[in-house]
Amino acid sequence: MEENKYLCPECGAQMYETYDKPALNLICPKCGCKIATTRWEKIDLDVTDYEISIIQESNPSMDHIKIVSKILAKNFLQTKEALISGCVIFKGKAIEVKKYKAILDKNEIIYKINPDFPY
Ligand SMILES: [Zn+2]
Repeated sequence: MEENKYLCPECGAQMYETYDKPALNLICPKCGCKIATTRWEKIDLDVTDYEISIIQESNPSMDHIKIVSKILAKNFLQTKEALISGCVIFKGKAIEVKKYKAILDKNEIIYKINPDFPY
């Protein structure tokens, strides 16, 4: 249990919270009033493993190689080869996929996400 900013709607005492994923339960220590809520977005709760794959580029630019090499955590040459052949550059949860998706979009790198990414 930890303190938080929620006040009991019944008696105004500061409530305590307990996590019972994905629900956040608020409990009043004074009158025992309980509220179940959730503070998470749908994307936080998504346990799907998504795959980002790069569509092959016959002649990848320096910029593309640099950006993808960071996501892929490979060196320049390995990344260049990966871009030329096309490959999965990242596997993970929606939250991280969203972050990389933004980077790829911004740099006009063509990619595919499997399964369909709804965010
Ligand atoms: Zn109360």
